[in-house]
Amino acid sequence: MRSVPALRASLRRLAARALDFLFTPRCVGCDREGAYLCEPCLDDVPRLAKPYRPGGQPRSGDEAGIERPRAVSMVYSTFAMEGAVRQAVHDLKYRGVRALAQQLGAAMAEHAQRLGIQADVLVPVPLHRTRLRERGYNQAALLAEEVGRRLGLPVESNAVARVRPGQPQAVSGGAAQRWEEVRDAFQAQRPPPGRRVLLIDDVCTTGATLDACAHALKAAGAEHVVGLTLARQQ
Ligand SMILES: [Zn+2]
Repeated sequence: MRSVPALRASLRRLAARALDFLFTPRCVGCDREGAYLCEPCLDDVPRLAKPYRPGGQPRSGDEAGIERPRAVSMVYSTFAMEGAVRQAVHDLKYRGVRALAQQLGAAMAEHAQRLGIQADVLVPVPLHRTRLRERGYNQAALLAEEVGRRLGLPVESNAVARVRPGQPQAVSGGAAQRWEEVRDAFQAQRPPPGRRVLLIDDVCTTGATLDACAHALKAAGAEHVVGLTLARQQ
């Protein structure tokens, strides 16, 4: 029979291993221990060199063919929405893996630096208050905090508010419907501290959300708005 101290020691080892299991970060792409996203998995995801200029569809009804001018002049996305980045976006948004924002935000900051993006302030695309209450945090704000810390830029989260909740992307229709849905979803709250705004979000699909948010920012006094997202869904 084993002595009490030996039993204690093995229990301690067992407890330590259980804690390690609980708290050792594992890669969302390959389950390897050490980081929430390992370098090989991240290196496998294509980086996007070209910026995207949001287009949009002509409006229907009596305003057919009349589009309001785009408020967001350009959207830069660091990664294609593929592989480990797709998984990371999912885990950051829906599984509460907030720690992912550090590494993802670091990649976005590096991208912004490489591009030489000039901005006075970062603004994360806000969530509707109902969604924020459900999730407990805004993933775009977590990314913006990290980008801001690394670029030495202030983050203003209250310049605009989302006043209309969004449809989940999966159940919404085509691009035209997407533009229509988010058109008046945001409202200016206060002037952003600076005229050149870098709008931060996790994913850009059509660019409609970023553009609607940029319209509100311009109404609040922003002069120039560009977007930076972690990923672009093509
Ligand atoms: Zn991995």
